[in-house]
Amino acid sequence: MAKILLSNATILTMDDKGTIYDKGYLVIEDEQISEIGPQESLEALGGLEGYEVLDCTDKIVMPGMINCHSHMSMIVYRSLADDMPDRLNRFMIPLEDRTRTIEMVEDGTYYAAAEMLMGGITTVVDQGGEVEVQAKVFEDIKMRGVLSETISSRNFAETFQKSKDFLANWSNHALVTPSITCHAPYSVENEHIVASHRLAREYDVLMQMHLAEMVYEFSESKKHYGVGPVQRLDSLGVLDEKFLGAHLCLASKPDLEIVAKRQAKVSYNPGANSKAAKDIAPVVDMHLLDIPVGLGTDGPMSSNSLNLFGILGLAARLQKLRYMDRSAFPCELVVRMATIEGAKAIGLENKIGSLERGKLADVIIIETESVNMMPIYDYYATIVYSANASNVETTIVNGEIVVLNKHLISKNLQDLRKNMLLHHKTISKVAEQLYVEIEEKYDLSQKLNY
Ligand SMILES: [Zn+2]
Repeated sequence: MAKILLSNATILTMDDKGTIYDKGYLVIEDEQISEIGPQESLEALGGLEGYEVLDCTDKIVMPGMINCHSHMSMIVYRSLADDMPDRLNRFMIPLEDRTRTIEMVEDGTYYAAAEMLMGGITTVVDQGGEVEVQAKVFEDIKMRGVLSETISSRNFAETFQKSKDFLANWSNHALVTPSITCHAPYSVENEHIVASHRLAREYDVLMQMHLAEMVYEFSESKKHYGVGPVQRLDSLGVLDEKFLGAHLCLASKPDLEIVAKRQAKVSYNPGANSKAAKDIAPVVDMHLLDIPVGLGTDGPMSSNSLNLFGILGLAARLQKLRYMDRSAFPCELVVRMATIEGAKAIGLENKIGSLERGKLADVIIIETESVNMMPIYDYYATIVYSANASNVETTIVNGEIVVLNKHLISKNLQDLRKNMLLHHKTISKVAEQLYVEIEEKYDLSQKLNY
């Protein structure tokens, strides 16, 4: 039986009351948190023989963070064509079609998982491909994942079957929770959206979809269906309490009212939205309508970083700007969105997202000796605006230490790097050729409103 004791820690529990222990302890037995409280009550527990003790003096302990939207395996393409207008259609889709292999998906998933674990993310909601290969990576590297095969109409039969197999083979796994993903309203036809939703309801799992993200998504939806994408999905009956929409940065107030009425959830991904010159999602309005909103990095191609700490500060800054209100998006709320609110957005709030007795032990320890971490008057402000991924010292997932003293211990990071370098060689060659073709085909100086 694994027993770990974290003592002398500043603990941000992120429970409903917002309990903070300035000096506290936390006990992990197997995969669960078995005790938590102020340091002085530790003695009442009696003998602590057999515990692995981590002294957390001058360290902040909080729940492992939840990244509510990503496409992890795309990390192999990170830093390509970042400034290209309409990069998705012109560059990304053709590049993936020409280069993607199962080994690339596997190695990319490993590397992205390593980066996230080392940066304090213990759960990721991913829209991927070759999802059973990815699930095995999660099992091996020891990360929690809500995973899915991305269904789109251009390869519906194949992706739908893979989704079905995944649901059948991976239900009730300790770390992997299967989910259904329909790529986006502009890439999936009505009958395929409805079939996917039916499958999601059959297995009672989360259904994910990009939504209200692209300008052309609205114009095409109005042209083909007479209504915007949110109304279209609502008319198909797929918006419900287990629907997670990614982005909604272009959602109108009536759109949000529909989302709220159906009790659907949202992931807010400000790093990707700002880099792609989309819009700032109306998250303050979402909160006014009691829509649960989690935070996401989006794919490593989209915001280029899987550092959720960077996203925390950006998430707050952009909302303050959008609403021209310095008091909007207070720091505690932002940390809640990365933890318990994220858990609510994916329906796992009874298991993860806060440090409470009986919950699964997904815990991170943040050091405060680094130069950027002094002084600390407000723990939440420090997490949101000062801390970064490199301050994460230890990451525990499901009661197991996977990062210790800033080193990944569940896998050899150098091996993962070597594999990434091999793919870099192949991808560079194809990308160069693709750049030439794109320059011949498109006027890249033309600004696009997409
Ligand atoms: Zn995405």
